[in-house]
Amino acid sequence: ASQLHEKLKSDLAAAKVDFLMASYVDMHGVPKAKIVPLAHLEDMLAGSEMFTGAALDGVPQNVNDDEVATYPDAATCTVLPWRRNVAWFASDLWLKDAPFEACSRSILKRQMDDAASLGFTFNLGIEAEFYVMREDESGKKTPITTRKLHKPAYDAASALDNLDWLGEMVNAMNEIGWDVYSFDQEDGTGQFELDFAFDNAVTTSDRFVFLRMMAQQIAARHGSFATFMPKPFAEMTGSGAHFNMSFADRKTGQNLFKSDNDPRNCGLSTLGYQFIAGVIRHLPAICAVVAPTVNSYKRLVKQGSMSGFTWAPIFACYGNNNRTNALRIPMAGGRVELRAADSSCNPYLAAAMILAAGLEGVREGLDPGEPNRMNMYEASPAELDRLGIGELPRSLGEAVEAFEADPLSSRVMGSLMAKSWADYKKDEWLSYTAHVSDWEVSRYLKFY
Ligand code: GLU
Ligand code: MG
Ligand code: MG
Repeated sequence: ASQLHEKLKSDLAAAKVDFLMASYVDMHGVPKAKIVPLAHLEDMLAGSEMFTGAALDGVPQNVNDDEVATYPDAATCTVLPWRRNVAWFASDLWLKDAPFEACSRSILKRQMDDAASLGFTFNLGIEAEFYVMREDESGKKTPITTRKLHKPAYDAASALDNLDWLGEMVNAMNEIGWDVYSFDQEDGTGQFELDFAFDNAVTTSDRFVFLRMMAQQIAARHGSFATFMPKPFAEMTGSGAHFNMSFADRKTGQNLFKSDNDPRNCGLSTLGYQFIAGVIRHLPAICAVVAPTVNSYKRLVKQGSMSGFTWAPIFACYGNNNRTNALRIPMAGGRVELRAADSSCNPYLAAAMILAAGLEGVREGLDPGEPNRMNMYEASPAELDRLGIGELPRSLGEAVEAFEADPLSSRVMGSLMAKSWADYKKDEWLSYTAHVSDWEVSRYLKFY
């Protein structure tokens, strides 16, 4: 290792890197870091950077507890494209001689190891949707695109209008090897989507966390900011973070979700269907993690105050290519898309919950039944009853209740972290329900 570290150090010196970031995430998936001058690379890789866990939100640690150590993963070394004298590292957290309970990355790695013991690599691609906005001197915030768009999706002119910052962002992603395959103006005015190559779920989670940070930094250079709030505008579509998932054979890399003779005609293997069935079984609890904010549930509606559809799921079901299912098998087959996930999720915890549920489906040989081919937005209560399809949680409160009731949660996060996470989210929900909104005041203040 020391030779490799020497080499890394001289490469970074040659690239004129001055500073290193030992970065990890809090329970929300927000990056935290200490910055280390290049001279201390070896110390940093050996876990020199310590911090107090109690400084992070929702972490089961107290002020008098031992410090947590940061172990950067040398393989993730990334020179920041917009600030080339800084190299960033994703890190694992350790408390003395064991992974720290609240380390999201280690929580996902445990599930990855379980998948590996069955011969699988869990591959993940996350589609990043977000709005870019401007804030004027008075603090007024407006979407960056001011063009009045009747149907914004794929609007060519808006993509061109924004190509300065959008192009800088995409070039940056490609510079660090992410292989962007397309990007566009999404269905909300000022909303964009960036799509890049999938990889194993740890790498993709590292990237999604980094992407949010990079989008903020690059947008700021263009006088704007990016928002990953799931539903910033009631009258426009929310920002999803669709999880596209498959299992590959650990040895050959072959996609094990692909089948050319699927009797259900979706191009999916039996293994893929078992995975889906496991995820559906635990979907309410999973929602608490993939859609972890009060605001997430304003996205998971059929229409809300929009004139068109939201394209977001409302039922715990799966289907073929049609976008009204929580789990969708895109047309080419060979992968499963979870549409319930949104841009505010901690991708490590989200992927860990989904993977554990999917593996349960595989171990028990579950079958999810026939895929839905109808427009689920139009399904009647009687039809839903007949098909045995339940609703997704309607609020963070319902989702956290499901999270607490499902033994999967503490199996994945560990009992201390699962409890601490649920307590934090219950508080968040209570604080929201206790607050009196503008809507209530304008509706009721002078009503009677
Ligand atoms: N923005 C939609 C959502 O909230 C998804 C649109 C799409 O299918 O790309 O999930
Ligand atoms: Mg999209
Ligand atoms: Mg999608």
